[in-house]
Amino acid sequence: MHGAQVNNSRAELTSGNMRSPVWKFFKVSDRDVKLAVCNVCHDEIPRGGSKQRHFNTTNMIRHLRTHHTTEYAEYEKLNQPKPTTSPSLNQPTVSDAFKRREPYSRDSTRWKDITFRIMDFICLDEQPLSVVEDKGFRRLLSCLDPRYDPPGRKYLTDVCFPRLYQTVNTNIDRLLKDSVYISFTSDIWSADACPMSLLSLTAHFIDSNFERHNIVLHCQDFTGSHSAEALVNAFSGMFQSRGIQREKIHAILRQRQKHAESNERRRFPWPAVCGTHSPACCA
Ligand SMILES: [Zn+2]
Repeated sequence: MHGAQVNNSRAELTSGNMRSPVWKFFKVSDRDVKLAVCNVCHDEIPRGGSKQRHFNTTNMIRHLRTHHTTEYAEYEKLNQPKPTTSPSLNQPTVSDAFKRREPYSRDSTRWKDITFRIMDFICLDEQPLSVVEDKGFRRLLSCLDPRYDPPGRKYLTDVCFPRLYQTVNTNIDRLLKDSVYISFTSDIWSADACPMSLLSLTAHFIDSNFERHNIVLHCQDFTGSHSAEALVNAFSGMFQSRGIQREKIHAILRQRQKHAESNERRRFPWPAVCGTHSPACCA
């Protein structure tokens, strides 16, 4: 029982009370925990009290200073207070703390990445550009990253949108250039909300990795007569603007107009498939 108590005392002594660098030159006496044994001369030095809470290092330091000058010099070196601004402590400086709260600059990668994702969200989910000015959306952004200060709608329209358009356009051009054959679909429609007819052109093709693509290449105003001649002119213009050669065009599938002439197909310079509600019309 007594031995166990001594061991417990030793465990305590080797933890909290022995942090002083002077312990590099002493050890606790095996015989009596109230004594420290000098590693140099093996003298036993009283630790300054009979209870653990009274133990101190005064006598040990005095012993070193009086009898072992080399060790005492080393002890003094070890006992130097460490500078509080030591980088090893990893304490952030005040300016670091302020910096972490500063909004990202518009040149930073993080700001550009988030803005790009907002554009991505607007385009893919068909959101209005003004969503970027909506209170709830801004709160969401602020919650996700308080340092991100979103641009206004005008910045998206003037700067981000043209950039994104350019990127997507270049990518489409590359895909079209690499394709061997392309098929197209088209439609003409009008809406009550808009007093104009629109003509679309969508490309369908398979790339060298056998991946299927369908890309809306055009959607343009198509007012006036919807005659075969007008259609041919419109398609020619759209193909030309994309640099699509005649030999690449595999087929054009389009909806037959009510007033389509029987000789319309003959006037079409491309293989035309009429995807209408009347299969008899198909080429
Ligand atoms: Zn000594």
